[in-house]
Amino acid sequence: MAFALQLPLCNQNAGVAMINFLKANVEILPSAMLKARVGGDGSAKRGDDFSKNNRMGKVWLVGAGPGDAELLTVKAMRAINSADVIFYDYLVSAEIRALFPKNIPSFYVGKAKNKHSIAQEDLNQLLVNQAKLGLNVCRIKGGDPFVFGRGGEELLELRSAGIEADVIPGITSASGCSTYADIPLTHRGLSQGCTFVTGHAEKSLDLNWDALAQLKHTLVFYMGLTRADEISSKLLAGGLAADTPVAIIENGCRADQRNIISSLSEFPADVIREQVQSPALIIVGEVVRMREKLQATVQAHAAETKYLLA
Ligand code: SAH
Repeated sequence: MAFALQLPLCNQNAGVAMINFLKANVEILPSAMLKARVGGDGSAKRGDDFSKNNRMGKVWLVGAGPGDAELLTVKAMRAINSADVIFYDYLVSAEIRALFPKNIPSFYVGKAKNKHSIAQEDLNQLLVNQAKLGLNVCRIKGGDPFVFGRGGEELLELRSAGIEADVIPGITSASGCSTYADIPLTHRGLSQGCTFVTGHAEKSLDLNWDALAQLKHTLVFYMGLTRADEISSKLLAGGLAADTPVAIIENGCRADQRNIISSLSEFPADVIREQVQSPALIIVGEVVRMREKLQATVQAHAAETKYLLA
């Protein structure tokens, strides 16, 4: 039987709808799934540590990386292939979702801006319930679950409820996006460090801007698009030069990755003019200049090859 269970991006009743849906549908799945997973004599078919012999399932909080399916770890792939049910968020790319086994149900439980499909508490409860039903759960998130991914909260909830749960790290978007844009996050002589900062906050950002401005190293802002003005003005006020280079990277590590190179004083206007969409990262620092240098070498080689072939 093929499972194609997928809830649409939902309205505010989505959490309830999701729970009801799962109550109606998924409770019938464990026996069928466990039959497939366990041999006739009751022994586990798979001998790896992703399968379970006891009645409780295990939850894997899996980092999917920033988008390119080839950046998935071997361990993440194994968790995907060993799961009885998959819950994925909005940053898990279509390319990665296409790798989900077709006979396993997968549910969207994302939290795209203003489009929360399910409340975090309901989701935590859902994961606990699925594991208690005996299912092995793959909860897959974009990037790394422990970098602005609420992985710590989910892990705490699961373990507090007595569920066996572990995290599989993924390539965080700062690393993937910068690399795919030819920007090293640190570079000898240019930047001796790198700080990951969230641009998301209920009200204003509670950050020590002066300290950030004076670090003189790479700053990467996650979820910073809607705060571009604040990031720019506060770093300028903290003493960072107006011509400090900035890269805005949209849809990093995907086929449609866009790299917009700007400066600290100009980038908020560029975000608007270029109509930058989420997900996007903002990289601030001298390392951004490396992109031009690295790309110039590629162009020089291409020109040389053309000359040699002519
Ligand atoms: N856990 C994730 C981050 C989640 S917060 C990680 O480790 O990458 C969500 C933010 O991450 C987005 O608003 C964006 O700033 C950034 N992000 C995630 N994936 C991205 C991508 N493919 N391209 C650009 N930015 C991305």
